[in-house]
Amino acid sequence: MAGAALKTNLPDVLKTLLDDPRVTVRRAGVPDPKGKCVVYWMQRAQRGVGNHAVNLAVYVANELGLPLVVYFAGISNFPHANLRHYVFLNQGLSDIEEDLAKRNITFVMRRAPHESHEKLLADVHAACVIGDENPMREPERWRKRLAAKITIPFWTVDADVVVPSKLIEKAQYGAYTIRPRLYRMLPEFLVPYQNPHALYAWKRPRGFYADSVHEDMTHGWKDLDRSVKPVEAWTGGTHAGLKRLKLFTGKMLRDYEAQRNRPETDGTSCLSPYLHYGHVGSQTIALAVEAAVAKDPSLKSARDSYFNELIAWRELAVNFVRHTSNYDTADHAEAWAKKTIAEHAKDEREWLYTLKQLERAETYDELWNAAQIQMVRHGWMHNYLRMYWAKKILEWTPDAATAVKYCVHLNDKYFLDGRDPNGYAGIAWAIVGKFDRAWNERPIFGKIRYMSGASTGRKFNSKRYIQQMHALPSGDPQ
Ligand SMILES: Cc1cc2nc3c(=O)[nH]c(=O)nc-3n(C[C@H](O)[C@H](O)[C@H](O)COP(=O)(O)OP(=O)(O)OC[C@H]3O[C@@H](n4cnc5c(N)ncnc54)[C@H](O)[C@@H]3O)c2cc1C
Repeated sequence: MAGAALKTNLPDVLKTLLDDPRVTVRRAGVPDPKGKCVVYWMQRAQRGVGNHAVNLAVYVANELGLPLVVYFAGISNFPHANLRHYVFLNQGLSDIEEDLAKRNITFVMRRAPHESHEKLLADVHAACVIGDENPMREPERWRKRLAAKITIPFWTVDADVVVPSKLIEKAQYGAYTIRPRLYRMLPEFLVPYQNPHALYAWKRPRGFYADSVHEDMTHGWKDLDRSVKPVEAWTGGTHAGLKRLKLFTGKMLRDYEAQRNRPETDGTSCLSPYLHYGHVGSQTIALAVEAAVAKDPSLKSARDSYFNELIAWRELAVNFVRHTSNYDTADHAEAWAKKTIAEHAKDEREWLYTLKQLERAETYDELWNAAQIQMVRHGWMHNYLRMYWAKKILEWTPDAATAVKYCVHLNDKYFLDGRDPNGYAGIAWAIVGKFDRAWNERPIFGKIRYMSGASTGRKFNSKRYIQQMHALPSGDPQ
């Protein structure tokens, strides 16, 4: 439906708000005049500040003269999520409640089995619903399903990228194609958030049901996979994420270029879990980096290097998942990659490992085992080793399809930042050469870029890294 048709009969102020390229009208119409509040269904952008979706919801609520309720549905069966992921998410909920309260907004959490959206919308008499965006398959399906079920307007806001993803209409070939397009639009979109306050407070109806954000949201969920333990070294939530951001921009950014490929040092921002849960938005991070550069212009080249990851590569991953329905398989490979993989399908593999052997870090390769230990025990791995880790799995499994399958399984099971577009894009890059070019041909890999253990290990103090990983508190798979 044309944009104009979707917005007929809306007050002019709302029409203007919906003209924002971050906004998608998923269900057209006018807000229910009998509605008692506006609801923002928070899913991906799990934060109370620095959130375009909260902001739009506040503007709409203020315009309609209604209070705003922010709703989080604690579902028990999020695809591939286990106890480790839920604990990190749970830690973020009290920050959301606190930050929203400062803006005169009520946060409501209902967890399974009480998490029905339709019930919540009926209980609060919502006039309209605002949502956020998530390019992944299942979350996108939830949005479509909700739009089909409800009768009030439903608008979603692309809150977790700097440049609204629909402005990059087509699937991109690589960082080199998306980067100039994104950077051209930064002056328009990399601007401070306003964090407006809601004018009208919501009064909780008598007998209204909500779960406490301070309690274990997984309590009583019998089918939840609890085998992957939480990682004590990480604390989820906006406040912990912003603290890390402050440390990064204040003390670490200066050395980012020099340190970012040294897995034995704490040299990168480690913000990926916070970005994944939306505890901190990429725009907030980018603005903090810009503020550091404004104070000290010698940080410019560190900023450029960091933005290449945070904006170019991260938003390329979002673009990839948005436009590639089979993003978590090997089937989307480019023609050259498919050809070279097929030509080398029968190459002899000296080592073949089962998924269990890989999971338990039982390979001949000490460096790879250490990286796998970091994944399992720490819930995170350094980027340089993620590349090596995935490429070795291609070498050690019968074919590329199996390699992608094993990588996705382990990536999503153990990483706090797993189940994210970045993971699928990273695995696609490593296994089927997505966003890469053809390299010199060699066994098994064909023209897919190869990384040798010897040269990877020489580029940093791998001995120290291996020792560090073995010293991590245990939590190994049974
Ligand atoms: C095989 C493989 C699997 C990966 N799996 C994941 C995953 O599950 N989740 C995840 O968030 N990232 C994944 N990455 C990308 C990258 O390794 C991590 O984002 C990064 O290591 C996170 O650490 P950091 O926050 O300290 O990064 P920094 O170097 O501080 O970078 C800042 C931010 O930029 C983004 N970024 C950095 N490198 C990349 C990249 N190569 N591609 C896309 N975005 C990037 C991340 O959001 C990161 O938090 C994967 C990469 C590969 C090669």
